[in-house]
Amino acid sequence: MTPDNHVDLQPAARDNLWMHFTRQGAFATSDVPIITRGEGAYVWDAQGRRYLDALSGLYVTQIGHGRRELGEAAAKQMAELEFFPIWTFAHPRAIELAERLASFAPGDLNRVFFTSGGGEAVESAWKLAKQYYKMTGRPNKHKVISRRISYHGTTQGALSITGMPAYKSVFEPLVPSTVHVPNTNFYRAPEHGDDPVAFGRWAAAQIEDAIIAEGPDSVAAVFLEPVQNAGGCFTPPPGYFQLVREICDRHDVLLVSDEVICGFGRLGEWFGAIKYGFQPDIITCAKGLTSGYAPMGAMIASDRLMEPFLEGNNTFLHGYTFGGHPVCAAVAMANLDIFEREGILDHVRQNEGPFRDTMNKLSDLDIVGDVRGAGYFLALELVKDKSTKETFNDDEAERLLRGFLSKELYDSGIYCRTDDRGDPIVQLSPPLICDQSHFDEIEFILRDVLTRAQKML
Ligand code: PLP
Repeated sequence: MTPDNHVDLQPAARDNLWMHFTRQGAFATSDVPIITRGEGAYVWDAQGRRYLDALSGLYVTQIGHGRRELGEAAAKQMAELEFFPIWTFAHPRAIELAERLASFAPGDLNRVFFTSGGGEAVESAWKLAKQYYKMTGRPNKHKVISRRISYHGTTQGALSITGMPAYKSVFEPLVPSTVHVPNTNFYRAPEHGDDPVAFGRWAAAQIEDAIIAEGPDSVAAVFLEPVQNAGGCFTPPPGYFQLVREICDRHDVLLVSDEVICGFGRLGEWFGAIKYGFQPDIITCAKGLTSGYAPMGAMIASDRLMEPFLEGNNTFLHGYTFGGHPVCAAVAMANLDIFEREGILDHVRQNEGPFRDTMNKLSDLDIVGDVRGAGYFLALELVKDKSTKETFNDDEAERLLRGFLSKELYDSGIYCRTDDRGDPIVQLSPPLICDQSHFDEIEFILRDVLTRAQKML
């Protein structure tokens, strides 16, 4: 592979490009990593080095990199109708995609509201919940309950729902009326640590307690990911979502399944709600909808939630210029064609066990306290003392993750995420086309780097 000659991009990368969630100052003394192309499960940098993309970009690239078919779908759509809004008008691709998503979504989630990304979908869901209750005679229902350490986006509403105080404090005051309850981190369960079913009952009861404490007349919605990403792939205990559904019904509260990561095959189904057998009132999604070949998100709402908007002059007073963009919708359709043609959901279902088994091998390392997750979505929690589950203090986590692991993993040819928004973890979310050879490569590199990490501690 010949190196791509992009070294001259370094000054502009430093001086002009404001990267997201990035310690920009770190690049005063080191180069900005510049990724120039991708194919399948791999990407290449400007020096021509190859990396296994074990994070699908950012939980996005379900069908892998470099699929010309999606570019061709975009070009065809641009030649036909490059843009038209879906404000009062419609166009074929948005209609077709809405119909297709409605057919994938569980139950009567038939109403598809397009956005440009995940945070906007979350924002839209909260606004819909508020306006719906205002229009149906319960105008005080406006609060949202979500879980600690959860991430739901960065717009001010979505950030309020996000359960990470450190991400929020610099932007306070945010949108009031959000309440945070315990998540489903079974590894560190404060109660019932030996009984997942009892733990699930306890965690669901926290939601009901919060609704009652706030006053059911004031609570509009509960926002939950099927598997919570931040903190490291917290799966739902058995029965948890069924109990949450009952609680929401009891108190007339909407259940929003935030599937920005979990949708589109990440867990082996179109949506995580299908995997875990619960019926949400709203699904929010993005990322894998287009596999990242174009930016797009959606809120998929139940028929019941649209009913009041079908009367008289009523209008959902909300929208985005680029919602339902024809090119993005055409790309999403082509992406979903590939899913169906190549049996991507089946592939994940057949290979999630081997992926898990291969990562479980790393449990023999002292630093690996827990391997958890579902589908192609796993996290390794790193611990200081495996027998006591003692975690690292802030300084140690900083040295371990940013001082060592991030760089060493990257230099060893793997792109994944080390994260300490909760306890320190390594997150893995490879493209859904990956197979045993990729799992082995991930395990091989992680074993080497984590073994060296143990020694430097
Ligand atoms: N919700 C969840 C669960 C997410 O993981 C994310 C992003 O990772 C978002 C919302 C926000 O999506 P976006 O970055 O597209 O705005």
